[in-house]
Amino acid sequence: MSADTCDWQNFSPGDLSYAFPIVSSGDVSASIARSSQAFPAWAALSLDERRDLLTQCADNLRAKSEEIAVLITRETGKPIREARLEMAAAIAKFDFTFADGERFLRDEAVAGGPHPALVRHCPRGPAAVIAPFNFPVHLGHGATLAYLLAGNTVLFKPSPMAANVGLVYAQVMQAALPAGVFELVQGWAPVGQELCLDPVVRAVCFTGSVPVGKALSVALASDYSKSLALELGGKNTAIICEDADLALAADAVADGMCLTAGQRCNATSRVLLHRSIADRFLDLLQSSLKRYRPADPLDETTLLGPLIHFSAHERYEQLISGSEGEWIVPGGILECNDKEQHGFYVLPAVVLVNDSAALDASPLAKCETFAPILVVEIFDKEPEAITRHEAWAFGLTASIFTSCDDAFSRIGALLSVGNLYRNLPTTFSPSTLPFGGWGNSGNGRPGGRSFLRFAVQEQAVQWKA
Ligand code: NAD
Repeated sequence: MSADTCDWQNFSPGDLSYAFPIVSSGDVSASIARSSQAFPAWAALSLDERRDLLTQCADNLRAKSEEIAVLITRETGKPIREARLEMAAAIAKFDFTFADGERFLRDEAVAGGPHPALVRHCPRGPAAVIAPFNFPVHLGHGATLAYLLAGNTVLFKPSPMAANVGLVYAQVMQAALPAGVFELVQGWAPVGQELCLDPVVRAVCFTGSVPVGKALSVALASDYSKSLALELGGKNTAIICEDADLALAADAVADGMCLTAGQRCNATSRVLLHRSIADRFLDLLQSSLKRYRPADPLDETTLLGPLIHFSAHERYEQLISGSEGEWIVPGGILECNDKEQHGFYVLPAVVLVNDSAALDASPLAKCETFAPILVVEIFDKEPEAITRHEAWAFGLTASIFTSCDDAFSRIGALLSVGNLYRNLPTTFSPSTLPFGGWGNSGNGRPGGRSFLRFAVQEQAVQWKA
């Protein structure tokens, strides 16, 4: 039995009177043993056989889609309209992964060498998928499908704050797969760490915060043949040029900062704003933010749900009270007199900061806010905006608002980000593309489309005819 076991209970962050069943952390070594035992037979199936079994998983997931969407909303506070989109994306992921399988998993014959030859794409072994709370199905599911289709077995560890979503998702997957091929491992950080560091586990896809990603990187450095894919956080910036469509930019920034209550890796948490249009843009932003009033996430019309947890609530308060600048939109914690509906609701907040040096040293620059808080800085010349953007160590997404093709190319070429947009919210990340961060935001193994590349290892095979 693993050392760090415990029981816990989640409460709905949108309605703290709603309690979920108690969850117990899993036995990591027993799960790894089952996963390891199932691996050879699963790897020996043909690609088509594995795809057929995963197609049954797709049918199961489709049948449970609405039930799981409601569960996501209850357990994480994500507005129901967003939870439904998450489920739609998870279902669509099957076909994207199957298409990628045709592209990346078939043996490739190689001519022109001294002998007949081919390149094989071999599974690695049991793979750990460590998922965050904010997309409790979709993100871990993308890596899960890639690993499984490629012939790896999967040990799925959901966020403990979305443990009940994780349980139902696991039941759906397990119903169509041979025993041990998909293992659910519940638990907190020590369980995740034990799982990732175990030498039998040959691949890890970790989606979560930068400090944990860095610690895993260090801990696994000597196990150099274990594949580690890190999908980490961001400080995603909108650069608003003087020729931008300001109404469009204001709506995109408001959406980028408030979707999932700012708890997205690609949430907009920073704006670099040209001085000549600053007042007009900030007026439009304030109007646009009025759409985002905190409310019950189960209501179909709600755009802004609660934060996930008491600790996130506290962090929000500390960031606002501890940060210098002009609070153009003051934010605040929503006081609720109705105990039955009380949850971790906050208002959007916007701060204009002039002192770059002080800002660079503050938590607003160094940590993800993971709440609807936006920092605005003013620039006069384009190079200044680029320098300011590059001064922060994250590199997940950035969006440039301009009507000029040349300006977009010029500025875009100098931004160190894995995902670059023009006139779109920084949160715009369709499943048709790879998604990963540069700098502190990832280690160059993007998830999303084509993650299959990292679920296999290449083997060069040649023979004498
Ligand atoms: P987190 O880092 O606290 O936890 C993520 C997962 O890692 C959880 O399952 C957690 O239990 C587990 N974990 C914690 N410590 C661990 C350890 N030492 N070893 C192994 N596993 C451990 O993050 P969170 O609060 O659940 O999620 C939010 C974070 O995820 C944000 O930083 C966000 O930016 C990031 N994120 C990144 C992406 C991306 O694609 N780049 C997508 C979504 C979320």
